[in-house]
Amino acid sequence: MNMITLGKTGIEVSELCFGALPMGPLQKNLPIEEGSEIILRALDGGVNFIDTAELYQTYEPIRRAFKLATFRPVIVSKSMALDYAGMRNAVEEGLRAMDIDYIDIFHLHAARVPEEENVFAQRAGAWQALLDCKKQGLIKAAGISTHSVPTVRLAAEIDEVDIVFPIINKNGTGILYGTIVEMEEAIKLCLDRDKGVYFMKVLGGGCLVKEYHEAVSFVRDISRVPIAMGMVSRAEVDYNLAYFKAAPEEIANLPELVIDEKCFQIVEFLCKDCGSCIETCPNHAISKASEKIKPKIDPDLCLRCGYCVGFCPQFAIRMT
Ligand code: SF4
Ligand code: SF4
Repeated sequence: MNMITLGKTGIEVSELCFGALPMGPLQKNLPIEEGSEIILRALDGGVNFIDTAELYQTYEPIRRAFKLATFRPVIVSKSMALDYAGMRNAVEEGLRAMDIDYIDIFHLHAARVPEEENVFAQRAGAWQALLDCKKQGLIKAAGISTHSVPTVRLAAEIDEVDIVFPIINKNGTGILYGTIVEMEEAIKLCLDRDKGVYFMKVLGGGCLVKEYHEAVSFVRDISRVPIAMGMVSRAEVDYNLAYFKAAPEEIANLPELVIDEKCFQIVEFLCKDCGSCIETCPNHAISKASEKIKPKIDPDLCLRCGYCVGFCPQFAIRMT
């Protein structure tokens, strides 16, 4: 497995990053022990990098995997907290829930940021909390995860940003306020400024799974940085390990990955039309055709992230 140092942080990680979102209750909702086993299988295979978030509710399977692992993996978490106290609590909760002394990387979780907004100013308290946690050794590096091209550009300009976690994929699915080319330019700006970068949603949340080879090769051509891949089964772990360990001439001989496509739907009779999912969706995939009609998810815009699931008070959004 190719190992990569993230910017100036000195943190060395595997090119394949274990994305913990899909195993949690927002998506597959695997039993905790099964989730830990799948994480351990990836760690045993050469992965040393795990990406999670407060929102994903996957600290428990990660904690269990940490207890059984033969080494200490690099762990990333993130929080949507808006202010100082909220972010401080998020870091402390992550440490407690995973039973660790420090979190390697902690992000402002800022998937959807209005185009004109400076998220570092708008959430200045939350950002300051991360910088203070870093000074105190509770986290080793501070960063941002985002779908927004202007926010990636802005992150390149801010000295204190150690790590940037942008969305990028060959179809541009989920990229906000810019084109694929503009996102590539913003990413290169970050790399030029020595930010550690790793990529999210290179398979478009699952839409590109049938084009796995092309999709991964597209982002590898932008830069050979780590790639977070969600994994919910042994077969997916084994496939990703085989792909990321393969020499270039071996890749063509690997079969395509076969997994079921995910789909998110609103169960109409459960929905109380509160609008909270519309506000939450990072890709503006949920809308109402008129005031009298309940919201619907546009499958062409849906990134299969499941964020809306966690924000629905009626449990009306289901993954099928
Ligand atoms: S509707 Fe939006 S929030 Fe929900 S899964 Fe799709 S992209 Fe994610
Ligand atoms: S959050 Fe749930 S209840 Fe509210 S509009 Fe969306 S689906 Fe309906």
